[in-house]
Amino acid sequence: MSENSKIEWTDHTFNPWEGCQKVGPGCDHCYAEARNSRFAGGTPINWGPGAPRRRTSAVNWRKPLQWNAGHAEFFAAHGRRQRVFCASLADVFDNAVPNAWRADLFDLIWNTPHIDWLLLTKRIGNAGPMIGRALELAGRGVNTPWPWSNVWLGATIVNQEEADRDIPKLLATPARVRFLSMEPLLGPVDLNHDWLSGEYFGHADDCGDDLCALNGDIHSCAGQLFPQPRVDWVIVGGDARPMRPSWPRALRDQCAAARVPFLFKQWGEWLPDDQNPAMTGPRDLSGAIRIGKRAAGRKLDGRTHDEFPEVA
Ligand code: SF4
Repeated sequence: MSENSKIEWTDHTFNPWEGCQKVGPGCDHCYAEARNSRFAGGTPINWGPGAPRRRTSAVNWRKPLQWNAGHAEFFAAHGRRQRVFCASLADVFDNAVPNAWRADLFDLIWNTPHIDWLLLTKRIGNAGPMIGRALELAGRGVNTPWPWSNVWLGATIVNQEEADRDIPKLLATPARVRFLSMEPLLGPVDLNHDWLSGEYFGHADDCGDDLCALNGDIHSCAGQLFPQPRVDWVIVGGDARPMRPSWPRALRDQCAAARVPFLFKQWGEWLPDDQNPAMTGPRDLSGAIRIGKRAAGRKLDGRTHDEFPEVA
Protein backbone atom coordinates (compact mmCIF):
# COMPACT_ATOMS: atom_id res chain seq x y z
CA MET A 1 0.00 0.00 0.00
CA SER A 2 2.97 2.31 -0.23
CA GLU A 3 2.43 5.41 -2.28
CA ASN A 4 5.70 5.03 -4.12
CA SER A 5 6.12 1.37 -4.83
CA LYS A 6 9.51 -0.34 -4.82
CA ILE A 7 8.31 -2.73 -7.50
CA GLU A 8 10.29 -1.92 -10.64
CA TRP A 9 7.40 -1.89 -13.09
CA THR A 10 4.90 0.27 -11.23
CA ASP A 11 4.69 3.74 -9.69
CA HIS A 12 2.12 2.94 -7.01
CA THR A 13 0.52 -0.08 -5.45
CA PHE A 14 -3.09 -0.04 -4.32
CA ASN A 15 -4.74 -2.74 -2.25
CA PRO A 16 -8.53 -2.50 -2.23
CA TRP A 17 -8.58 -5.46 0.18
CA GLU A 18 -6.21 -7.90 1.79
CA GLY A 19 -6.30 -11.68 1.99
CA CYS A 20 -6.14 -14.56 -0.43
CA GLN A 21 -5.66 -18.30 -0.84
CA LYS A 22 -2.77 -20.22 -2.36
CA VAL A 23 -3.59 -21.53 -5.80
CA GLY A 24 -0.34 -22.86 -7.23
CA PRO A 25 3.43 -23.31 -6.87
CA GLY A 26 4.01 -19.59 -7.47
CA CYS A 27 2.29 -18.93 -4.14
CA ASP A 28 4.74 -20.98 -2.05
CA HIS A 29 6.66 -17.99 -0.71
CA CYS A 30 3.77 -15.51 -0.67
CA TYR A 31 5.03 -12.40 1.12
CA ALA A 32 1.47 -11.13 1.45
CA GLU A 33 0.46 -14.12 3.56
CA ALA A 34 3.54 -13.72 5.75
CA ARG A 35 2.71 -10.04 6.18
CA ASN A 36 -0.90 -10.82 7.04
CA SER A 37 0.30 -13.26 9.66
CA ARG A 38 2.81 -10.82 11.12
CA PHE A 39 0.18 -8.14 11.61
CA ALA A 40 -2.24 -10.56 13.24
CA GLY A 41 0.03 -12.00 15.88
CA GLY A 42 1.26 -15.03 13.92
CA THR A 43 -1.96 -16.26 12.26
CA PRO A 44 -2.86 -15.24 8.69
CA ILE A 45 -6.46 -14.40 9.55
CA ASN A 46 -7.39 -13.35 6.01
CA TRP A 47 -5.88 -16.37 4.27
CA GLY A 48 -7.36 -19.58 2.95
CA PRO A 49 -10.86 -20.84 2.12
CA GLY A 50 -13.51 -19.42 4.40
CA ALA A 51 -11.28 -16.73 5.87
CA PRO A 52 -12.78 -13.26 5.54
CA ARG A 53 -10.95 -10.82 3.31
CA ARG A 54 -10.30 -7.40 4.83
CA ARG A 55 -11.38 -4.35 2.88
CA THR A 56 -8.95 -1.46 3.27
CA SER A 57 -9.90 1.94 4.65
CA ALA A 58 -11.81 4.71 2.92
CA VAL A 59 -8.70 6.86 3.25
CA ASN A 60 -6.72 4.27 1.29
CA TRP A 61 -9.44 4.11 -1.38
CA ARG A 62 -9.06 7.85 -1.96
CA LYS A 63 -5.39 7.56 -2.94
CA PRO A 64 -5.97 6.63 -6.60
CA LEU A 65 -8.18 9.73 -6.93
CA GLN A 66 -5.27 11.82 -5.66
CA TRP A 67 -2.82 10.17 -8.09
CA ASN A 68 -5.31 10.74 -10.88
CA ALA A 69 -5.61 14.41 -9.92
CA GLY A 70 -1.83 14.76 -10.11
CA HIS A 71 -1.57 13.27 -13.59
CA ALA A 72 -0.42 16.45 -15.35
CA GLU A 73 2.50 16.99 -12.95
CA PHE A 74 3.50 13.35 -13.25
CA PHE A 75 3.37 13.45 -17.02
CA ALA A 76 5.42 16.66 -17.10
CA ALA A 77 8.10 15.05 -14.93
CA HIS A 78 8.18 11.57 -16.50
CA GLY A 79 6.73 11.89 -19.99
CA ARG A 80 4.25 9.06 -19.43
CA ARG A 81 1.17 8.07 -17.47
CA GLN A 82 1.32 6.67 -13.94
CA ARG A 83 1.04 2.91 -13.47
CA VAL A 84 -0.81 1.45 -10.49
CA PHE A 85 -0.36 -2.20 -9.51
CA CYS A 86 -3.66 -3.25 -8.01
CA ALA A 87 -3.66 -5.86 -5.24
CA SER A 88 -0.12 -6.78 -4.24
CA LEU A 89 -1.59 -8.25 -1.01
CA ALA A 90 -4.55 -10.03 -2.60
CA ASP A 91 -6.00 -11.10 -5.93
CA VAL A 92 -8.60 -8.95 -7.72
CA PHE A 93 -10.33 -12.08 -9.05
CA ASP A 94 -10.40 -14.09 -5.82
CA ASN A 95 -13.70 -16.02 -5.44
CA ALA A 96 -13.89 -15.17 -1.74
CA VAL A 97 -14.11 -11.43 -2.40
CA PRO A 98 -17.68 -10.04 -2.54
CA ASN A 99 -18.75 -8.98 -6.01
CA ALA A 100 -19.86 -5.66 -4.53
CA TRP A 101 -16.25 -4.84 -3.54
CA ARG A 102 -15.11 -5.56 -7.09
CA ALA A 103 -17.90 -3.35 -8.40
CA ASP A 104 -16.60 -0.53 -6.19
CA LEU A 105 -13.10 -1.14 -7.49
CA PHE A 106 -14.18 -0.94 -11.13
CA ASP A 107 -16.14 2.19 -10.36
CA LEU A 108 -12.92 3.68 -8.95
CA ILE A 109 -11.01 2.58 -12.04
CA TRP A 110 -13.60 4.28 -14.22
CA ASN A 111 -13.27 7.47 -12.18
CA THR A 112 -9.48 7.57 -12.55
CA PRO A 113 -9.01 7.65 -16.34
CA HIS A 114 -5.59 9.32 -16.20
CA ILE A 115 -3.81 6.45 -14.48
CA ASP A 116 -3.15 2.99 -15.91
CA TRP A 117 -4.35 0.13 -13.72
CA LEU A 118 -2.35 -3.08 -13.85
CA LEU A 119 -4.57 -5.95 -12.76
CA LEU A 120 -2.35 -8.98 -12.26
CA THR A 121 -3.97 -12.25 -11.28
CA LYS A 122 -3.28 -15.91 -10.69
CA ARG A 123 -6.95 -16.58 -11.50
CA ILE A 124 -7.15 -15.37 -15.08
CA GLY A 125 -10.03 -17.74 -15.83
CA ASN A 126 -12.18 -15.69 -13.43
CA ALA A 127 -11.31 -12.33 -14.98
CA GLY A 128 -13.83 -12.18 -17.84
CA PRO A 129 -16.93 -13.25 -15.88
CA MET A 130 -15.98 -11.23 -12.80
CA ILE A 131 -15.31 -8.05 -14.79
CA GLY A 132 -18.70 -8.48 -16.46
CA ARG A 133 -20.44 -8.89 -13.09
CA ALA A 134 -18.58 -5.95 -11.56
CA LEU A 135 -19.54 -3.64 -14.43
CA GLU A 136 -23.14 -4.76 -14.17
CA LEU A 137 -23.27 -4.10 -10.43
CA ALA A 138 -21.47 -0.79 -10.80
CA GLY A 139 -23.89 0.28 -13.52
CA ARG A 140 -20.99 0.72 -15.96
CA GLY A 141 -20.64 -1.45 -19.06
CA VAL A 142 -23.67 -0.30 -21.09
CA ASN A 143 -22.48 3.13 -22.15
CA THR A 144 -18.93 2.32 -21.15
CA PRO A 145 -18.16 -0.95 -22.93
CA TRP A 146 -15.23 -3.08 -21.92
CA PRO A 147 -12.24 -3.03 -22.50
CA TRP A 148 -11.33 0.27 -20.91
CA SER A 149 -8.28 2.14 -22.10
CA ASN A 150 -6.76 2.50 -18.61
CA VAL A 151 -6.70 -1.20 -17.69
CA TRP A 152 -3.83 -3.61 -18.38
CA LEU A 153 -4.65 -7.24 -17.61
CA GLY A 154 -1.90 -9.63 -16.55
CA ALA A 155 -1.59 -13.33 -15.72
CA THR A 156 1.07 -14.80 -13.46
CA ILE A 157 2.79 -17.73 -15.18
CA VAL A 158 5.49 -19.72 -13.39
CA ASN A 159 5.99 -22.82 -15.57
CA GLN A 160 5.02 -24.41 -18.87
CA GLU A 161 1.90 -26.05 -17.47
CA GLU A 162 0.51 -22.69 -16.38
CA ALA A 163 1.51 -21.10 -19.69
CA ASP A 164 -0.40 -23.72 -21.69
CA ARG A 165 -3.39 -23.49 -19.36
CA ASP A 166 -3.63 -19.74 -18.72
CA ILE A 167 -2.21 -17.74 -21.64
CA PRO A 168 -5.10 -18.78 -23.95
CA LYS A 169 -7.49 -17.56 -21.22
CA LEU A 170 -5.67 -14.23 -21.01
CA LEU A 171 -5.80 -13.80 -24.77
CA ALA A 172 -9.51 -14.63 -24.77
CA THR A 173 -10.25 -11.82 -22.29
CA PRO A 174 -10.53 -8.36 -23.87
CA ALA A 175 -8.01 -5.84 -22.52
CA ARG A 176 -6.14 -2.89 -23.86
CA VAL A 177 -2.79 -4.37 -22.80
CA ARG A 178 -2.22 -8.02 -21.88
CA PHE A 179 0.89 -8.98 -19.98
CA LEU A 180 2.62 -11.90 -18.27
CA SER A 181 4.35 -11.75 -14.91
CA MET A 182 6.65 -14.78 -14.96
CA GLU A 183 7.72 -14.47 -11.36
CA PRO A 184 8.81 -16.64 -9.73
CA LEU A 185 9.99 -18.38 -12.87
CA LEU A 186 10.25 -22.03 -11.82
CA GLY A 187 11.30 -23.73 -15.05
CA PRO A 188 11.88 -23.30 -18.76
CA VAL A 189 8.86 -21.94 -20.64
CA ASP A 190 8.37 -21.93 -24.37
CA LEU A 191 6.06 -19.09 -25.35
CA ASN A 192 4.15 -20.30 -28.39
CA HIS A 193 4.90 -18.04 -31.37
CA ASP A 194 1.17 -17.44 -31.91
CA TRP A 195 0.85 -15.96 -28.39
CA LEU A 196 3.53 -13.37 -29.13
CA SER A 197 3.12 -12.64 -32.81
CA GLY A 198 -0.40 -11.22 -32.85
CA GLU A 199 -1.26 -13.06 -36.05
CA TYR A 200 -1.89 -16.58 -37.29
CA PHE A 201 -1.69 -18.24 -40.66
CA GLY A 202 -5.11 -19.47 -41.71
CA HIS A 203 -7.23 -20.59 -44.59
CA ALA A 204 -7.97 -17.79 -47.02
CA ASP A 205 -11.73 -17.34 -47.44
CA ASP A 206 -11.33 -16.68 -51.11
CA CYS A 207 -9.03 -19.57 -51.96
CA GLY A 208 -11.89 -21.38 -53.73
CA ASP A 209 -10.45 -24.80 -53.04
CA ASP A 210 -13.15 -26.90 -51.38
CA LEU A 211 -10.73 -29.63 -50.47
CA CYS A 212 -8.45 -27.17 -48.75
CA ALA A 213 -11.29 -25.84 -46.61
CA LEU A 214 -12.48 -29.35 -45.91
CA ASN A 215 -9.26 -30.94 -44.79
CA GLY A 216 -7.88 -27.84 -43.10
CA ASP A 217 -4.65 -27.99 -45.07
CA ILE A 218 -4.11 -24.28 -45.25
CA HIS A 219 -0.84 -24.72 -47.05
CA SER A 220 -2.54 -26.13 -50.09
CA CYS A 221 -3.98 -22.67 -50.76
CA ALA A 222 -2.26 -19.34 -50.52
CA GLY A 223 -3.31 -19.00 -46.88
CA GLN A 224 -3.50 -15.66 -45.13
CA LEU A 225 -2.25 -13.98 -41.99
CA PHE A 226 -5.05 -13.01 -39.63
CA PRO A 227 -4.65 -10.65 -36.67
CA GLN A 228 -5.33 -12.01 -33.19
CA PRO A 229 -4.75 -10.83 -29.61
CA ARG A 230 -1.20 -11.18 -28.39
CA VAL A 231 0.87 -10.90 -25.24
CA ASP A 232 2.02 -7.26 -25.18
CA TRP A 233 4.59 -7.43 -22.40
CA VAL A 234 6.59 -10.04 -20.46
CA ILE A 235 8.05 -9.55 -16.96
CA VAL A 236 10.44 -12.17 -15.57
CA GLY A 237 11.88 -12.60 -12.09
CA GLY A 238 13.03 -15.06 -9.45
CA ASP A 239 12.23 -15.47 -5.76
CA ALA A 240 13.69 -17.56 -2.96
CA ARG A 241 14.34 -20.48 -5.32
CA PRO A 242 17.31 -20.59 -7.73
CA MET A 243 16.47 -19.61 -11.31
CA ARG A 244 18.62 -21.13 -14.05
CA PRO A 245 19.99 -18.42 -16.38
CA SER A 246 18.83 -20.34 -19.44
CA TRP A 247 15.19 -19.80 -18.41
CA PRO A 248 15.03 -15.98 -18.52
CA ARG A 249 17.53 -15.93 -21.38
CA ALA A 250 15.24 -18.01 -23.60
CA LEU A 251 12.25 -15.78 -22.77
CA ARG A 252 14.30 -12.66 -23.50
CA ASP A 253 15.22 -14.08 -26.90
CA GLN A 254 11.68 -15.20 -27.73
CA CYS A 255 10.39 -11.73 -26.88
CA ALA A 256 13.12 -10.05 -28.92
CA ALA A 257 12.31 -12.21 -31.95
CA ALA A 258 8.63 -11.26 -31.71
CA ARG A 259 9.34 -7.62 -30.73
CA VAL A 260 7.51 -8.00 -27.44
CA PRO A 261 8.81 -5.72 -24.64
CA PHE A 262 10.71 -7.65 -21.97
CA LEU A 263 11.47 -6.59 -18.40
CA PHE A 264 13.85 -8.54 -16.22
CA LYS A 265 12.78 -7.70 -12.68
CA GLN A 266 15.26 -9.53 -10.47
CA TRP A 267 17.21 -12.73 -9.87
CA GLY A 268 15.77 -13.16 -6.38
CA GLU A 269 17.83 -14.67 -3.59
CA TRP A 270 20.20 -16.67 -5.81
CA LEU A 271 22.67 -15.39 -8.39
CA PRO A 272 23.70 -17.97 -10.99
CA ASP A 273 27.33 -18.82 -11.37
CA ASP A 274 27.74 -17.49 -14.90
CA GLN A 275 26.28 -14.10 -13.99
CA ASN A 276 29.09 -13.32 -11.56
CA PRO A 277 31.68 -16.10 -11.36
CA ALA A 278 33.95 -14.07 -9.08
CA MET A 279 31.55 -14.29 -6.14
CA THR A 280 32.38 -16.61 -3.29
CA GLY A 281 30.03 -18.30 -0.86
CA PRO A 282 27.86 -21.41 -0.45
CA ARG A 283 26.48 -22.62 -3.76
CA ASP A 284 23.68 -24.92 -4.83
CA LEU A 285 24.25 -27.89 -7.16
CA SER A 286 24.06 -25.68 -10.26
CA GLY A 287 26.67 -23.27 -8.91
CA ALA A 288 24.20 -20.53 -7.98
CA ILE A 289 25.18 -18.56 -4.89
CA ARG A 290 22.77 -17.30 -2.26
CA ILE A 291 23.64 -13.65 -1.78
CA GLY A 292 20.23 -12.08 -1.24
CA LYS A 293 17.86 -10.24 -3.52
CA ARG A 294 19.48 -6.84 -3.35
CA ALA A 295 23.00 -8.10 -4.06
CA ALA A 296 21.86 -10.48 -6.80
CA GLY A 297 20.39 -7.50 -8.62
CA ARG A 298 18.58 -7.45 -11.93
CA LYS A 299 21.16 -7.69 -14.68
CA LEU A 300 20.82 -10.53 -17.15
CA ASP A 301 24.04 -11.27 -19.04
CA GLY A 302 25.47 -7.94 -17.93
CA ARG A 303 22.63 -5.65 -18.86
CA THR A 304 19.35 -4.35 -17.53
CA HIS A 305 16.16 -5.12 -19.46
CA ASP A 306 13.57 -2.48 -18.74
CA GLU A 307 11.14 -2.46 -21.64
CA PHE A 308 7.48 -1.49 -21.39
CA PRO A 309 4.61 -1.64 -23.87
CA GLU A 310 4.04 1.50 -25.83
CA VAL A 311 0.79 3.20 -24.94
CA ALA A 312 -0.32 6.63 -26.04
S1 SF4 B 1 -2.40 -15.45 -5.47
FE1 SF4 B 1 -0.80 -13.98 -4.85
S2 SF4 B 1 -1.55 -13.07 -2.92
FE2 SF4 B 1 -2.72 -14.95 -3.31
S3 SF4 B 1 -1.64 -16.55 -2.14
FE3 SF4 B 1 -0.88 -16.58 -4.26
S4 SF4 B 1 0.95 -15.26 -4.23
FE4 SF4 B 1 -0.24 -14.82 -2.37
